[in-house]
Amino acid sequence: LTLLGIESSCDDTAAAVVRLEDGRGAILSSVVEGQAALHAAFGGVVPEIAARAHAERLDGVVEQALEQAGVALDRLDGIAVTSGPGLIGGVLSGVMLARGLAAATGLPLIGVNHLAGHALTPRLTDGLSFPYLMLLVSGGHCQFLVAHGPETFQRLGGTIDDAPGEAFDKVAKLLALPQPGGPPVEAEAAQGDPRRFAFPRPLLDRPGCDLSFSGLKTAVLRARDAIIAEKGGITRQDRADLCAGFQAAVADVLAEKTRRAVALYLTLAPAQPALSVAGGVAANRAIRARLEQVADGAGLAFTAPPLRLCTDNAAMIAWAGIERLRAGTAPGTDLTARPRWPLDAGAAPMLGTGK
Ligand code: ATP
Ligand code: FE
Repeated sequence: LTLLGIESSCDDTAAAVVRLEDGRGAILSSVVEGQAALHAAFGGVVPEIAARAHAERLDGVVEQALEQAGVALDRLDGIAVTSGPGLIGGVLSGVMLARGLAAATGLPLIGVNHLAGHALTPRLTDGLSFPYLMLLVSGGHCQFLVAHGPETFQRLGGTIDDAPGEAFDKVAKLLALPQPGGPPVEAEAAQGDPRRFAFPRPLLDRPGCDLSFSGLKTAVLRARDAIIAEKGGITRQDRADLCAGFQAAVADVLAEKTRRAVALYLTLAPAQPALSVAGGVAANRAIRARLEQVADGAGLAFTAPPLRLCTDNAAMIAWAGIERLRAGTAPGTDLTARPRWPLDAGAAPMLGTGK
């Protein structure tokens, strides 16, 4: 099976060709064209600008992916496209292109949930077997999922407000660092003292594995303003210390809540227990290291995709399409563009999360 994947749900225009080989995915090509420069002046992704850029770039990105893979359209076995959730203009651009290609070639068309793409990535990279525990932690999401099958995800808990990626982005903005904020905040944090500022660890006092990150960003804002009020400005060291304190708080909260999610997951008595992370924040080395410790402590295998497969890409979409074709799910049935599309719609019943 060889699939073309197309992704345009946020601010990356991406296409990839992935082939099923020995139960895993061989990535023949993965082209990602980011839009950071287009949105930089606005301090966030502007939906109209994103939609237009996707519409202009998708054709070329798909062409590049096919060319780099050395695979002609008529040698594919299907086309997978992100059909939600995301910014609807971008999602529509991808879906229309995929529909056109499928109509022209007669290939099966598979609509993929973007979050399923992230959540299935450890099967593409490491061949994990179901059920595994997934912490999906990105710019727009933060949730603990048990992956039972390519389309069956059970939500154990998640953020009640912001996603951590969003918090990284906002902290970067507060400190005049570039967007997306994750990488520069991580780089600053490496130079800072995580103990100088005692930032809150929200919801640790509450049972279950729900999380909260909005208070943390406010705490960073207050600390910054206190320094400015005292000294008239912040030094490089202040900035590094603020980043280090913030990142340590995020890592602490994620680690503790992961410990609790692991305990719930283990009640399923999985044959090969495994914890995996996905989403852009999973690219953070300090956070990955903490989660790996949690997995080690509980006797779980730990996998984290390579950084380029943590952030948005189309290889994960092609792979999710392969999973669905392989599972024999009728393709094309849900190919409408959906701005919202929770991953656990119609999934297995809840475990005892106390919710
Ligand atoms: P979603 O997948 O929820 O729709 P998205 O597609 O925008 O959101 P991703 O591309 O998966 O999210 O991740 C982008 C987010 O990851 C950004 O908020 C970015 O700041 C964050 N991020 C990227 N690298 C790092 C890092 N090294 N440390 C922390 N955060 C990071
Ligand atoms: Fe994403």
